[in-house]
Amino acid sequence: MVPRRRPPAVTLLVTAAAAVAMLIGSEPSAAARPAHEAECPVGLACRFAPAAYARTDPSDPDAYGDYDRADRPRDGDDIRYIVIHDTEESYDSAIARFQDPHSGVSAHYVIRSSDGQVTQLVHTWDIAHHAGNYWFNMHSLGIEHEGVLVDGARWYTEAMYQASARLVRYLAARYHIPLDREHILSHEEIPGLTPGGVAGMHYDPGPYWDWAHYFDLLGAPLPTAGVSAAPVLTIVPRFDIDIEPLRSCVGEACTDLPPQGSNVVYLHTEPRADAPLVGDPALHPDGSPGTTRVADWSARAVTGQSFVVAGRSGEWTAIWFGGRPAWLDDPPGRVSAPGHGALITPRPGRSAIPVYGAAYPEDSAYPPTIPAAAVVPLRYTIPAGQVYLGVERGFADYYYARFDSADAQDNHTLVVGDRRLVEISFNHRRAFVDAADVLILR
Ligand SMILES: [Zn+2]
Repeated sequence: MVPRRRPPAVTLLVTAAAAVAMLIGSEPSAAARPAHEAECPVGLACRFAPAAYARTDPSDPDAYGDYDRADRPRDGDDIRYIVIHDTEESYDSAIARFQDPHSGVSAHYVIRSSDGQVTQLVHTWDIAHHAGNYWFNMHSLGIEHEGVLVDGARWYTEAMYQASARLVRYLAARYHIPLDREHILSHEEIPGLTPGGVAGMHYDPGPYWDWAHYFDLLGAPLPTAGVSAAPVLTIVPRFDIDIEPLRSCVGEACTDLPPQGSNVVYLHTEPRADAPLVGDPALHPDGSPGTTRVADWSARAVTGQSFVVAGRSGEWTAIWFGGRPAWLDDPPGRVSAPGHGALITPRPGRSAIPVYGAAYPEDSAYPPTIPAAAVVPLRYTIPAGQVYLGVERGFADYYYARFDSADAQDNHTLVVGDRRLVEISFNHRRAFVDAADVLILR
């Protein structure tokens, strides 16, 4: 669900800036595309069943569901990520929800557990409301997988993995999305937009999604575990043998989930197994430690994520994680592999720098007719001396869209700022820092 901003009730007809035209690829315009055909690779069982696109309150022009019309990437709003979800409900009920405009939510695709059948609901050039963070929605495709995350492998069938991987390979090739874990994300890796929104962000598809197997099927295998003195490591536990405790809780009543493989590596405050798990200020504002609750992502590094090494002690390795060093049990060749990427750190003279959940432009970038999307620092900071992995660097942007029954492209505007941000691998999730706040070390 995406918070709906409420711009003033004026008729707005603004043409997208010519400056972004250079970003247009070889895609045909939306008007030239078949409106009711699924976008799927040949041979994949795939159908199109449109999500709702309708007003929900006749008196409010800005009350509508379940997605935003766009012309990606021709309008300059590039598709940079694919976000993996699970439905937490049946295939049919997820589809029905996305066809109810009052739900406010949608995904581009839903995949059935039993046989991998794919239903597309939103065209790839439109913006589905799936990530709970509008900036990531602007730049991503969302794929839902039928399942209940605490039940894990029972839902995530081989048929579903294979169908999903075929679809992702097709989409990645079409939109030039790198097949790596910086661009094929889980919903749980999407940050909140505001400090108050962080704790409520979803944590699907959860610990039992087998990333290593999925990337094998994508034809882009994750690195295998190995010993290295590299400054970056990639988390690569063995899904079949690395069993970590997880609990499912309703209120304070918790049950242990059955022992099974997962994508989880736990992070501790000190280099020893009995040290507390690291806590996250959004989930543990009182400073208490993280837990093994399945909903508590405070102390979880996940298969395929990469971080900068902060120190080593015996068989333990510290990574910079969420503004602190966090220790993982890292026996040689078991759970980490050498990683790579650009290293960023606060500029000299800064004691700490702010962290953001979106790359929205500065207020002055907006024309007077478009209300600015708020630029709000999250509850985290990066203290001087810490180092994080920089993933993407680019200009801040915001795609302004209103309900548009005529599908008139002039009703949409991409606002591009002068502000530049660097996306980083921050904690369990992605985050952004101002490029002006950091040095890129290499
Ligand atoms: Zn989700």
